[in-house]
Amino acid sequence: MRPKSTPSILAFRRRLMGWYRRHGRDLPWRRTRDPYAVLVSEFMLQQTQVSRVEQFYHRFLARFPTLQLLAEAGHGEVREAWQGLGYYRRADNLHRLAREVVEHRDGRIPAESEELVRLPGVGRYTAGAVASFAFERAEPAVDTNVERVIRRVFHPRARGAAGKRRIWETAERLVPRAGNPAWTFNQAIMELGAMVCTARVAMCEQCPVRKGCRTGGRR
Ligand code: SF4
Repeated sequence: MRPKSTPSILAFRRRLMGWYRRHGRDLPWRRTRDPYAVLVSEFMLQQTQVSRVEQFYHRFLARFPTLQLLAEAGHGEVREAWQGLGYYRRADNLHRLAREVVEHRDGRIPAESEELVRLPGVGRYTAGAVASFAFERAEPAVDTNVERVIRRVFHPRARGAAGKRRIWETAERLVPRAGNPAWTFNQAIMELGAMVCTARVAMCEQCPVRKGCRTGGRR
């Protein structure tokens, strides 16, 4: 059946955030607003599944509980603490980031995504994620899960660089302006992409935003 229209921003947010409050996973990095811990989780999640990151996140933070201690560590120590996660470039970047923040920014991780994106290993997504998840800034954070959800709901024909731009613009409009709701919204849309609207299968029958979805509403 054809959806009557694209859902309004308010309806989309309400349905999505209501679903997340009932079904969102209780992940360790969702219990903190410590920017260092959030950064560690985001670096680990860049190439690794949640279940695997859960095994290594606490171990790494137990070894290097602060950004300062990570900055002071030797290259080999950091790589050793990263062992089992692979893609060691992430560990090297995180280490470089810690040193840069300690040496040039008084040990304070910036809250603005325009500043975060200048740090080693931080792309546009990670900058938005840290700004939102650590500082509750109203910033979009579009990873592959979020991109897929926005494409399927709002822009099923969006492709290429122009399509990406459009998806980011929509993400900016979707994020609530206030801090805590912005945090919840970004976690919720990411969760929907990971658990319901997945790359492998779109479980539209159980999707909270099906009404009006330009992909699922037609099924
Ligand atoms: S209705 Fe289907 S396609 Fe649309 S967001 Fe939900 S799971 Fe994805």
